Amino acid sequence: MLYDVVIIGGGIVGTSIARELSRYNLRIALLEKETELAFGVSKSNSGIIHPGTQNPPGSLKGCLCVQGNTLMRKLSKELGFDFKEVGELIVAFTEEEIARLRQLKKEAEALGVPRTRIVDGRWLKAHEPNLSGKALVALYAPTAGIVSPYRVAYDLAENAGRNGVEIRTHTRVEGIAPAGLFQFEVATSSGIFKTRYLINSAGLHADDVARMAGIDDFTVRPRKGEEFLLDKKRHYLTNHVIFPLPTKISKGVLVIKTSDGNPMIGPTAEDISDKEDLSTSDAGLAKVLTEARKLVPSIDENDIIAYFAGLRPVAGDDFIIRHEDKVPGLVTVAGIQSPGLTSAPAIALMVAGILKKKGLALKKKLLFHKKRKHAIHLFEIPLSRTKKLIKKDAGYGEIVCRCEMVSAKEVRDAICHGAKTMDGIKFRTRAQAGRCHGSFCTTRIMKILAEETKKQVTEVTKRGRGSELVKEDRANG
Ligand SMILES: Cc1cc2nc3c(=O)[nH]c(=O)nc-3n(C[C@H](O)[C@H](O)[C@H](O)COP(=O)(O)OP(=O)(O)OC[C@H]3O[C@@H](n4cnc5c(N)ncnc54)[C@H](O)[C@@H]3O)c2cc1C
Repeated sequence: MLYDVVIIGGGIVGTSIARELSRYNLRIALLEKETELAFGVSKSNSGIIHPGTQNPPGSLKGCLCVQGNTLMRKLSKELGFDFKEVGELIVAFTEEEIARLRQLKKEAEALGVPRTRIVDGRWLKAHEPNLSGKALVALYAPTAGIVSPYRVAYDLAENAGRNGVEIRTHTRVEGIAPAGLFQFEVATSSGIFKTRYLINSAGLHADDVARMAGIDDFTVRPRKGEEFLLDKKRHYLTNHVIFPLPTKISKGVLVIKTSDGNPMIGPTAEDISDKEDLSTSDAGLAKVLTEARKLVPSIDENDIIAYFAGLRPVAGDDFIIRHEDKVPGLVTVAGIQSPGLTSAPAIALMVAGILKKKGLALKKKLLFHKKRKHAIHLFEIPLSRTKKLIKKDAGYGEIVCRCEMVSAKEVRDAICHGAKTMDGIKFRTRAQAGRCHGSFCTTRIMKILAEETKKQVTEVTKRGRGSELVKEDRANG
């Protein structure tokens, strides 16, 4: 079968491109090596939809970030995911920092970030009472928002699938053979895909994939970020996302509001060499606690309920998004470090533009399903609505995850919408993501997953083959 477009990588970038291209009469496949989508960089980030501050003026990532912030709001309405516009504060503690803050404001304005202003100490006391009393002023950017990053990717992919895109998980790209102009044979762990256009959005492995096609002029290096999630009881720790002044390589350690209610502190920024190293460390924790407490002194180590690390795919200072003239039909989307989540919808538009310029006919479908129904999460809705839902379906009354208030019906719905693993269910529903880390609900969810997928409990995995949770005891039958 000949595809018009094959997209390699099912993170936020690949799923955004798939959804954007699904408007057109094209045969498209999205290939992802993992058991589920968004199990790469897109699962381990801060979930901030940045307004565009803290990007060099004239940078591609700055322009795409500002555009992405606007597009993400539209997408949230179409696809039904939660977008909360909470605003951000970049805080200055010294006169020297105030001067840098003014410069940041100018740069943000040059990029087109709307409605930024400098707010004084009195404003900060009134609007952000837990902020350090040493804060002098802050740059306020009201358009910063928060989302659940994996849910955005899942919703984009589901909608792309509804509009005809073939989503192939468990499909690792292993070789690319150009088979003439605008013709590729993509060898994968699940067979060969022939396509006219090929998009490389393989995140940390975009350089490995590029080399398969004969492009070797960039390297992706992982920059590790360790983050620490606090208990939901500290939900009201801050009203905004709080930043220090940025460093040369990152936005610094932040105090983050998240869309599900747990505040988060981090991330660190450490250049490493191993693309699989997702370990966290005591040193990372100590650094993040010290830096975060400079912003919000009341942060307590005992409130931390989970640790994780993500790896930013860095390939120079800016994103690399280009058609490879040496390999006609190949589009590279690499080095998508922060603000890649925010920029993803704008990256998708840019890629569509490149494909069009390179001869792909973008003819709109007569019927494009633009909208997707909002998934129900009991933790988001009032009790009166929950009661009504239980009357309609008793599964809503069967609470499997007590910490996060997730019902058996929500778990079943997540499986019906594509979850294949325990992590896939966690990311979609939050079941197992609370303070007890699944001590109460894991076995119950495993049973539901086994029932719904008609598998044995021994086949249920945390995140794909090799991460089975229960071993068969053959010796004892
Ligand atoms: C700690 C941290 C915090 C961040 N916070 C923010 C934030 O708040 N806001 C923001 O805007 N951005 C943030 N970012 C950046 C953002 O997370 C990334 O820019 C974005 O997730 C990159 O998405 P991607 O689709 O390019 O990569 P990925 O999500 O990694 O997707 C690439 C996919 O390609 C697949 N793949 C790789 N090789 C192959 C192959 N050979 N065959 C098939 N599939 C393959 C991978 O499995 C993966 O799923 C943060 C990043 C980190 C690390």
